[in-house]
Amino acid sequence: MPPLPLKQAEEVGEYDLFVIGGGSGGLGAARRASGQYGAKVGLAEASYRLGGTCVNVGCVPKKVMWYTSEVASALRKAASYGFGDDATNYKIAESFDWHKLKEKRDAYIHRLNGIYDRNLANDKVDYHEGFASFIDKNTLNIKQHDGTSYQVKAKKIVVAVGGQPTVPTDEEIPGASLGINSDGFFDIEQQPKRVAVVGAGYIAVELAGIFNGLGSETHLLIRYDSVLRTFDPILSDTLVPWAEKEGLNIHKQTNVKKVEKTASGSLLVHLDSSDKPLEVDVLVWAIGRNSNIAGVGLDKVGVEVDKKGDIIVDKYQNTNVDGIYAIGDVQGKALLTPVAIAAGRRLSNRLFGGPQYKDEYLSYENIPSVVFSHPTIGSVGLSEPEARKKYGDDKIKIYKTAFRAMQGAMLDEAHKAPTAYKLVTLLPNEQVIGLHIIGEGSDEILQGFAVAVKMGATKKDFDDTVAIHPTSAEELVTMR
Ligand SMILES: Cc1cc2nc3c(=O)[nH]c(=O)nc-3n(C[C@H](O)[C@H](O)[C@H](O)COP(=O)(O)OP(=O)(O)OC[C@H]3O[C@@H](n4cnc5c(N)ncnc54)[C@H](O)[C@@H]3O)c2cc1C
Repeated sequence: MPPLPLKQAEEVGEYDLFVIGGGSGGLGAARRASGQYGAKVGLAEASYRLGGTCVNVGCVPKKVMWYTSEVASALRKAASYGFGDDATNYKIAESFDWHKLKEKRDAYIHRLNGIYDRNLANDKVDYHEGFASFIDKNTLNIKQHDGTSYQVKAKKIVVAVGGQPTVPTDEEIPGASLGINSDGFFDIEQQPKRVAVVGAGYIAVELAGIFNGLGSETHLLIRYDSVLRTFDPILSDTLVPWAEKEGLNIHKQTNVKKVEKTASGSLLVHLDSSDKPLEVDVLVWAIGRNSNIAGVGLDKVGVEVDKKGDIIVDKYQNTNVDGIYAIGDVQGKALLTPVAIAAGRRLSNRLFGGPQYKDEYLSYENIPSVVFSHPTIGSVGLSEPEARKKYGDDKIKIYKTAFRAMQGAMLDEAHKAPTAYKLVTLLPNEQVIGLHIIGEGSDEILQGFAVAVKMGATKKDFDDTVAIHPTSAEELVTMR
């Protein structure tokens, strides 16, 4: 659906609900309120496209790149399964055309943008194209791309403006702006020969894994000794040595001091851990994200934010101002698409769904998350250190296993990726309060086990479930 024509937008009257931001959370809230409950709903999106971070510069194009990297990996293993020979297959893997794939990927995203447009129209949500900011608690200014503005009124307003990558300023790190961020990753037209990714979170790990899998000389620069430090240690303890074996150069205990551009256009990345700068073609900052609240005018209506700039909400997504709510990345907890969607839908259920939903809210406990590394990672519930801290060592029993998946049976040693699983259980009844897995297929395995953990399954429930053979996942129900 094209955005509303200006005249219509100005004359639209007061909305029951207005949503700022057409990303995962905003679309979830708007469509549920209008499509399901018939509320009069408007939504503003400041970029030219709906779908937000996930669709345009996050989950979706990232997963396309992850699949691409897996294809390269499969080619390198193909000879072991009787297809051709290594020399030919490696050559095919090296012939990867980044630009060609990017064009296809962009076209796919463009199609998705169109589907999102149509979904909004089907659910009768008015789409306002422009940047929304508060004038007062029931009035928003919509600034269009041509600079003109108009106002809309709403009884209730949801702030779903998401976040953006954090990048150091040139004052903090001279030359930092010579690097790109995760948004810029999706603009890269040709495969860089040499690349450095700064960061240890899941986005850094995923982007570095993609570059490395596709054959770029890849350096991952991390501040401490490990990656994914908020996850259970079994995951990084397994991933890091394997990624290094796969050719990823992980520089530990290192900080970028300065970045310079050479006459040939390459970048010299000066590190505090080495006298010799690293020469790369692309530098990617993936050091975290911050909320997109600049210019939204939260201060005009007194909406409270924390020190990091995330909007403070209660469990019902209420801000401190009556009638203003915040969902998704902007509230700083569990920055994941399904979380933003679920919070948005539940909020609309609560506001417009009648008495049976009056107490509806999203629980942020036991949210499953996946890292699209090579191999993939899945995690739900408490890590072992979190569980020990919360309940005490004597209340926690751990089950662990590490093995090579059968997928590696025909492969030579160099290609046998590791698998490691851990269950964190709470005594006396051994309720599974944490499940952490790394290995082929962990992304797909996790979803079903997340249901079990959410339902409070015990180790006995796992043991009582008949294994599926031969799979890797069967090890989760046969651990001793
Ligand atoms: C590289 C990367 C990979 C990721 N991979 C995954 C993954 O595999 N799985 C997963 O679950 N999550 C992933 N995420 C996270 C996921 O993208 C976010 O959690 C999700 O998009 C958050 O949704 P949101 O609605 O809060 O914000 P967003 O999706 O960011 O949407 C916010 C929207 O608001 C618009 N906006 C901002 N300010 C205004 C304004 N003032 N007026 C109007 N519009 C405005 C923005 O243009 C944007 O479209 C990834 C993120 C990144 C960066």
